[in-house]
Amino acid sequence: MNRAEILTDRILEKIKGQNVKVKREDILKRMRLLVEEFKVPESEAVRTITNYLVREYGVSREGLMERASPLVKISGITKPNQWVSLKAKVVQLWDSNSPNVSQVGLIGDETGIIKFVIWSKADVPEVEEGKSYLFQNVVTDSFQGRMQVNLNRTSRIVEIDEDIQLPPREIDVIGAIVSFQQNSGLIKRCNECGRVLVKGVCQVHGKIDGYDDLRIKAVLDDGESVYEVILNEENISSLTGVNLEKALEIAKENLDRNAVLAELKNKLLGRYFRVKGLRGGRYLLVQDIEHYKPSIEEFEEILEALA
Ligand SMILES: [Zn+2]
Repeated sequence: MNRAEILTDRILEKIKGQNVKVKREDILKRMRLLVEEFKVPESEAVRTITNYLVREYGVSREGLMERASPLVKISGITKPNQWVSLKAKVVQLWDSNSPNVSQVGLIGDETGIIKFVIWSKADVPEVEEGKSYLFQNVVTDSFQGRMQVNLNRTSRIVEIDEDIQLPPREIDVIGAIVSFQQNSGLIKRCNECGRVLVKGVCQVHGKIDGYDDLRIKAVLDDGESVYEVILNEENISSLTGVNLEKALEIAKENLDRNAVLAELKNKLLGRYFRVKGLRGGRYLLVQDIEHYKPSIEEFEEILEALA
């Protein structure tokens, strides 16, 4: 979609609730003329067309005003289908396996951490880990029993010059790695954006050679809760002795990149670890991870809880 179409659909979105029969083609034609032909600034083009709709179709001007959703804290998000705005820091970006999703990860403020999904059709800039943003007009959603926020075509992202603090929820957990999730092991990342390639394809940049990396997405169970954790090359190498170089050797010897995954599973699955990090709901942002040998009593306790 080009800019004229995006702007047109934004206007249509806003007058959807009003009982007016405006043809998309009609608005689009005017928008193209203004934006593409006459190079009128977008805000002015939108204003001109707004005036036209008010005049010709009796569209209510109030309904067309940009109304920002109320600013809330993450802990205040408890119901789906609410339009809100948030000031938050991007704490982690994940790889999206869907072409419909442009970015997915975790954002946090001092009250909590929540998953966010930016749909591809949203017209917003890419966010970066560690930076803080105003996320405007996002919609709350509940997925598999957990709250998240989605960004779509009416959402906005503005980088802010403010270092949003994360919840002071440092935790220290002892648990077992009970499963590996998809795209773990010896992976390839896109040279352009760092996303994990799926079958040699970056969902933004298409078919690309990419570069090798090691990472594991795992589920850690401490008997009370399960946490999703991501281990990077440094974590993996310190726990298993398999660094990137070694992993490439294993893949070469076996003529199979999956041999690395098998080796890592062998060394990590079902074992106990002590993890220090930040907790946000189900997610545990790993700061430090080491092998842990439970005492007999602890071991029995864990087994009991796992049963
Ligand atoms: Zn890419």
